[in-house]
Amino acid sequence: MKIVWSHRNTNCSLCKENIDKKIQRLDDTVRKGDKIRRLHYHPDCYVKHIRDWVEKHPYQRVTSNGGRPSLGLSVDESRQRQRLLANLNSLMAYYFPKNAPPLLNIQGDISSLTADDLKKFQNFTKRRERIVKSLEPLGGLPESHGGKPEATRRRIEHTSFVS
Ligand SMILES: [Zn+2]
Repeated sequence: MKIVWSHRNTNCSLCKENIDKKIQRLDDTVRKGDKIRRLHYHPDCYVKHIRDWVEKHPYQRVTSNGGRPSLGLSVDESRQRQRLLANLNSLMAYYFPKNAPPLLNIQGDISSLTADDLKKFQNFTKRRERIVKSLEPLGGLPESHGGKPEATRRRIEHTSFVS
């Protein structure tokens, strides 16, 4: 997947409308057997496509674990972890709502923040850090929130030998 400037008229593979020249376009290729299909998208269409997918496929904890490495948590720890993750998600949803401009614009330089924004930013950071810290002994921050891949977060289980 790459972003290019459109130099010719093409059709968006999602909305089927024309992608005009001189606007950004997302290009992708899909291999089907030995045929390569080229796909083009309006960036906005692709973003919508991802959002629609997420809406149709809400995150679900796989009880059977689907072959993914287990975090090795007890039922209680696992419950605690889920609660913390729910808190983290609502914190993120509050500061970075999906269908509205973010409460915080942290793309820019922190020094350019107003006093009010700085307060919001510190509040957000403090709350996020508290959750991150509590998550540390419980499998750590998930990859989707910027944590390390799950396999490396796996808690080492100590087998106790009873003699
Ligand atoms: Zn489109």
